[in-house]
Amino acid sequence: MTKPKVYLSPPHLSGDEQSYVKQAFDSNWIAPLGPNVDAFEKEMATLVGTKGAAAVNSGTAAIHLALSLLGITKGDTVFCSTLTFVASANPILYQGAEPVFIDSEPESWNMSPQALKRAFYHASLKGKLPKAVIVVNLYGQSAKMEELLLICNTYGVPIIEDAAESLGTTYQGKASGTFGHFGIYSFNGNKIITTSGGGMLVSNDVEAIQRSRFLASQARDPAPHYQHSVIGFNYRMSNLLAGVGRAQLNVLGNRVNARRRIFARYKNTLTSLPGVTFMPELKGTKTNRWLTTLTIDEQEAGVTVNQLLEAFHKENIEARPVWKPLHMQPLFQGVRYFPHNENTHVAEHLFATGLCLPSGSNLTADEQQRVITCIKEEFSRPILTKSLLISRKYGV
Ligand SMILES: *Cc1c(COP(=O)(O)O)cnc(C)c1O
Repeated sequence: MTKPKVYLSPPHLSGDEQSYVKQAFDSNWIAPLGPNVDAFEKEMATLVGTKGAAAVNSGTAAIHLALSLLGITKGDTVFCSTLTFVASANPILYQGAEPVFIDSEPESWNMSPQALKRAFYHASLKGKLPKAVIVVNLYGQSAKMEELLLICNTYGVPIIEDAAESLGTTYQGKASGTFGHFGIYSFNGNKIITTSGGGMLVSNDVEAIQRSRFLASQARDPAPHYQHSVIGFNYRMSNLLAGVGRAQLNVLGNRVNARRRIFARYKNTLTSLPGVTFMPELKGTKTNRWLTTLTIDEQEAGVTVNQLLEAFHKENIEARPVWKPLHMQPLFQGVRYFPHNENTHVAEHLFATGLCLPSGSNLTADEQQRVITCIKEEFSRPILTKSLLISRKYGV
C-alpha cells in the first residue's frame, strides 16, 4: 500500500475564506470587480507599504501588465534573472521583446550585481540599453536589491520585482516586492498564500496602477459605446477569489512563521550530513522560506540529487530540483546570458546540485519526519554508492 502523499507546497486554508465568499454570493458580486477586489487591493497595499495595488488573475498577468505599462514592445531588450520559473520571462516574449539572462550570485541565489553590471556595460557599448530589468526573489529570498538598484538607477532603467515567491519577506525592514518601480505577487495554489489562481501588481506610481486596471479590463475608452484605442487584456481578478485572498492575507504572518519553523527543523536535523548546504539567508533580510532548498555536494555526500529524488518518489514524497536556468531552456536557445564571472556559472551549479523539500505551512511533524528519515536513509547507504561515485569520477 502506498503511503499518503506529502506535497511540496499545498494550499493552506484559514477557515475564514467561505465567509468572504458567502458575502459575495449574498450580494451577487460574482464579477471581476466588486467590494472584495477593492478591499483586497487596499489591504495588500497597506501590508506591503505601497501607494497602489491592482488585483489580477495571475502573477504572469501582473508581469505582462508591468512590461506593457513601461511601453516595452517589439525589438526592445529586457534583462531578467536566469534562475527562475519560465513565467518571469514569458511576458517579455508576449511583447515581442528580447530577453537577456543574468546569472545568480551565491549569497542570495538571486541576480548577480556583477553580472548585471557587465550586461549593462555591453549594452551601453552597443548603444542599446534594456527598457527594464526583471529581478526575481527566489524561494522567498530577496535579491541584493540595494546593489541592483544602484546599478539600474545609474542607467535610468526601471526594475520589475518578481516577488511571486517572496510575499511576507522583508529586506532592510521593508517588504520584498516594493523596491522596484513595479512589484508583482502570485496567489497560485502553491504559493505562500493562495486564491487558487491570482496575482497582484504593486507600485508607488498610482497613475500606473490606475492605468493597469484599465489595460486589464480590455482598455475600454470612456465613451457610451464600446471604443478602444490601445490593446487591452482580460486580466482582472474575480470578486469571489479576492474574498479568498482577503482571508488568506489575514494569516500571512502565521504562514511565514510556520515555513520558517519547517526550515529550522530541516536545518537542525540535516545540516550535519556531509555535503549538505542550505540556502543561506541574506544579511539584513527575513525570508518567508517559501521552500526549503539545499544543495548536495555529490562527492562529499556519496549521494546524488537524482538518487534522493528517486527515494522521495518511492516514499510518495513530492520534492523538486531547483529551477532549470532559463538560458538552458530550449525555448530560449541562442539568447544572450551573462554569468557571475567567466568561470563561475552559479545558476547552472545550483540547478545541478539543488533540491527543494516539502515546505507547506500545513506540513505535519510526522510528514516532515518522513522526509527527514528518507534523506537519512539514503545517506546511511554509502558503501555501494560511494564506490560507484568514485569510479564514475575517475572513469574506472
Ligand atoms: C509562480 C511564479 C510566477 C507566476 O505566477 P502565476 O500566478 O502562476 O502566473 C512568476 N514568477 C515566479 C518566480 C513564480 O514562482
